[in-house]
Amino acid sequence: MPVTTQGSRPLVECESLVRIHQHGSVEVQALQGLDLVVGAGEMIAVVGPSGAGKSTLLSVLAGADLPTAGSVRVAGWDLTALSRAQRLAYRRDVVGFVRQQTARNLVQYLTARGNVELPLALAGRGPRARRARAVELLETVGVGHCADRLPSQMSGGEQQRTAIAVALANGPRLLLADEPTGELDSATAQEVFDTLRLAQHEAGVTVVVVTHDPAVSDQVERTVAVRDGRTSTEVLRRTEVAEDGASRVIAQEYAVMDRAGRVQVPREYREALALTRRVRLALEADRVSLLPDVVAR
Ligand code: ADP
Repeated sequence: MPVTTQGSRPLVECESLVRIHQHGSVEVQALQGLDLVVGAGEMIAVVGPSGAGKSTLLSVLAGADLPTAGSVRVAGWDLTALSRAQRLAYRRDVVGFVRQQTARNLVQYLTARGNVELPLALAGRGPRARRARAVELLETVGVGHCADRLPSQMSGGEQQRTAIAVALANGPRLLLADEPTGELDSATAQEVFDTLRLAQHEAGVTVVVVTHDPAVSDQVERTVAVRDGRTSTEVLRRTEVAEDGASRVIAQEYAVMDRAGRVQVPREYREALALTRRVRLALEADRVSLLPDVVAR
């Protein structure tokens, strides 16, 4: 079982996830056997080049897209085997989603409070309880002053924080955010990131953020890199206190091994030693070495 930074039991477990999109006779493999475990209460960043499969992964975790093969469990829900009613319940109660485009997260003709009340109404909460919860949530994320404003009367950062309040309304276990700071300047991006952190710490929500923003990925304990539809590397960060009492963050990059023992060797390593199709593996006392196939040259 892969390590989660908090050592907690897993909330998200993806194993050998495959998602093939069919366009006429053309097949696009968006996910090609992706493995990912996220511990309950953990916050991770997912990074990777455009087209790597990050959005597809979030759609699968959101219950909006079905994998072609593989298994995915979130908070005990098997997302490959949900009835229509269960899928609706999962999307309403278990998972919250924040998108990059601030305008797409909120209903434009509803106030901030109206937006937060919407999922509460869909979950059958009465008007009084809805109002109280919406006001409380907006205050928690620092935009209580926007309760009666329309999205067009709020800044981008205020809209994204309202979107986080909407996503948290029904007390989800998992919060998914797809480039939530992509349209914001760095100071506002930090505020939005701090709000996600707040959701993690105060509400105990597990957070998965897809981001290109190094300022975000550098601040989480674990960054998972997705490449060609698979998890390629993970960076774990921990804070170490030196003898002089100063603390510093140590970041260590790991390759990820799947259950079948497959490891992706980074392109720079392959190019540096001209590793091609065949390599030699040597088991030593405390390591496994991977050597070029000299016979092939
Ligand atoms: P990322 O979020 O990392 O940019 P995506 O998950 O959006 O990557 O896409 C992964 C691959 O799957 C890309 O090659 C993309 O073109 C393809 N893809 C994503 N969604 C669809 C779709 N609905 N139909 C066809 N191809 C898709």
